This record gives sequence, C-alpha cells and structure tokens, in this order.
Amino acid sequence: MGLIVQKFGGSSVADAQRVNNVAKIVTDTYKQGNDVIVVVSAQGDTTDDLIAKANEISAKPSAREMDMLLCSGEQISIALLAMAIKNLGFPVISLLGWQAGFNTSSSYGKARIKKINDERLKNEISKNNIVIVAGFQGINKYDDLTTLGRGGSDTSAVAIAAVMHADKCQIFTDVDGVYTADPRKVENAQKLKDITYDEMLELATLGAQVLNNRSVEMAKKYNVELEVLSSLTNKPGTIVKEVANMEKMLVRGVTKDTDVARVCIMNLPDTPGVAFKIFDKLAAKNVNIDIILQSVGRDGTKDITFTTTCDNCDTVKEIIENSFEYQEAKVEINTNVAKISVVGAGMESHPGTASKMFEALYESDINIQMISTSEIKISVLIEKENADKAVSAVHKAFFPAK
Ligand code: ADP
Ligand code: ASP
Ligand code: MG
Repeated sequence: MGLIVQKFGGSSVADAQRVNNVAKIVTDTYKQGNDVIVVVSAQGDTTDDLIAKANEISAKPSAREMDMLLCSGEQISIALLAMAIKNLGFPVISLLGWQAGFNTSSSYGKARIKKINDERLKNEISKNNIVIVAGFQGINKYDDLTTLGRGGSDTSAVAIAAVMHADKCQIFTDVDGVYTADPRKVENAQKLKDITYDEMLELATLGAQVLNNRSVEMAKKYNVELEVLSSLTNKPGTIVKEVANMEKMLVRGVTKDTDVARVCIMNLPDTPGVAFKIFDKLAAKNVNIDIILQSVGRDGTKDITFTTTCDNCDTVKEIIENSFEYQEAKVEINTNVAKISVVGAGMESHPGTASKMFEALYESDINIQMISTSEIKISVLIEKENADKAVSAVHKAFFPAK
C-alpha cells in the first residue's frame, strides 16, 4: 500500500487493445489499495509521424512550434487511457504536463525540468483519483509548451516519483527488463535481475534506448528505485538501484551508438594552448565532446580528433571555418562511424576486459579508430556498417551462449 508511479511507453499504448490492457494493469494496482499516478507517451510512432509532418511543411521548423506539435501526441494518449479506466468504473483524471505542475527551462525541444508544483497532483490523489499525466512535456517561463527531448517520458515519471516520494516507479515497455544487449538485435542477450544506477546511466548514455539517461541520473540523485518491466507479460523486470547483486558479472552490457560524428583537425601547430583554444570555442557553443585523441607532434604539427553527436556537425563546421585562427589546418568530419561500448562496474578490478573486447573485434576483422575508457566502461569507435556485427561479436565474447 502506498504511492506507485507507472510509466507506459509508446508501444504499450499503441492501439485500443493496448490502451485497455494498460487500464487493466493500472486499475489492478489501484484495487490493491495503492494511489497511482500514471505517465504515458504518445501512441506507437506518433512522435516520429508528427516530426515527419512538420518536415513536409518546413525543413527547419521553429523549435517553439515543434514543441506545440509534439505535445499533442501525449495529449491523445492521456485522454484515451482515462476513458478506458473510466469504462472499468474507476475514478480518474488526465492532466497535461503544465496541469501536473511541470515547470521547465525555456529551451524548446530539450527543456530541463526546473520544478514540479505538486499541488494539483496531491489534490487529485486526495480525491482518490487515478491521475494520468502526459509525459515528455512541461511549460516554460513564457507560458509556452516545451518538450524534454526524445524518450523524455521516462524522466517525467521519475521526476513525479521523486517529488511525490513514491514508493515505486515502474517503467513499463515492450521488453521485460534491461538486457546485456538489445534483445531485439542480439542473440542470447540475457535479462539482468538488477543493475546499479551508475551502470544503467552508462548503458543509457552509450545507446541502450530502454531508459532515457536523464531519467536514470534523476533516479540516482533522488534515490528513486526503478523497475523496468513489460506491459505485455506479467513477469518481474529489472531493478535499477544504488547497490546491485553483481552476480559475478564483469560486464553488464554491450551497446552501440550510431549518433556519432568524428571530427579530425589536421595540421595544427604543435604549440601550447592549441587544444584549449579549440575546445574553448566549442564549449562556448555548447558542443559536447566525447572521445578526444591528439597525435604526437611531428615536424612542428599535430592533429586533434574528437567525437560529438551528429546534430553538432553544422556548429562545429561553422566554428572552425569562420572563427578559426589556424589557417593551415584542415578539417574532416565523418558521420560514418559508430561507438561500441562495454559497461560494468566489475571491470575496474579485472585488467583483461579491454583485451577481450579488442580480440573479439580483431577476430571479426573490425578496425578500431579510437578508444576511450573510464572506470566502468570501454568504448571504441568503428565504421558504422560494422556496428551490429561488432556488438554481436563483443557480446558473444563476454556472454557465450549457455
Ligand atoms: P518505450 O516506447 O516503452 O519508451 P523504447 O523503444 O524507448 O520503449 O525502449 C525499449 C526498447 O529498447 C526495446 O524494444 C529494445 O529494443 C531497446 N533496447 C536497447 N538496448 C536494450 C537493452 N540493453 N535492454 C533492453 N532493451 C533495450
Ligand atoms: N513521445 C516521446 C518520444 O517518442 C517521448 C517518449 O516516448 O518518451 O520521444
Ligand atoms: Mg523510451
């Protein structure tokens, strides 16, 4: 008995049958004596379809109008789910993000939650209503609608669980937990019983789509225990928490990220301050940098290579072409790359992890372009066309079929 937040992703509410299925899960939870707040995403591929519609009108639509458009997807879902719950004879109310108190920063398309004014949520709960909230959206200081970025409904759910001090936050999706790799793409991917916030954060940031990385960051910060589970099967899912049972696993997962661009600046002077001047300019324009590699100086020159996300390519080009002081330098941007990573807190104390990963890639004849490591992950940059083959080979090396 307590307060439970349940989030249902797009595939879980894709059609009338699925909406009715969700209504059943929610009302079963309510019948057990719990207060329930539900966060839903837009149905099926609605968000992608709305983006395609916008692009039919404009190649570069205004960010404000884009958010106005995208918020409509979740509005459809909350109304339909509330109707389905009413049909089952339960008290229910649907709320848009702003009605549920979501105040965000002003940046359209990638707004951050600043504060949730919980008055309305508390009030509806005190009236014994099941509350259905539109995920992925809020309102900014100009009273404009904003969205939180793709996959943002996970973050909406965790944020509500944090402010309302919920006992549980359940993320229902179309797979029954977090796996050692994408179970739809990788043979023999294994379901994890539990995983730490830090490992899940790395997996999510490095390409495992199952949870949005900001939702994991927030869950860690406010100590919200998450469960990732399927809305279609009645099985226990994966628990994301501070301390996980390591099950003697060195590596917890293998991911791929294809939203990567490799930027190579060649023929730079081999003198102090060059890296600073370049990265300072990039930082000023909010360009996030990931792997950085600098060559050894030769004949007074050096090369600097780094990776960033594809949406930053135009900005990088502009910075380097327009405000660049090194006339002799040459720039090359390559988006035909992918980042493959292995993640696991156990690797810190096991020196063989990197060589095992590199061996698997070597045996598949895949060339490594760049490498980066932290205490709990190893990432390599490879050619994009080899991404799936690389994930399978690396996964097989760490998780041989039983
Ligand atoms: P939702 O619409 O419910 O938010 P998403 O499509 O965002 O669902 O996320 C679920 C998908 O994430 C799964 O269908 C699966 O293909 C993918 N996925 C990628 N990596 C993993 C992983 N390591 N474990 C589980 N699912 C993963
Ligand atoms: N509907 C939004 C998206 O497709 C938000 C979400 O599903 O979490 O990205
Ligand atoms: Mg999602």
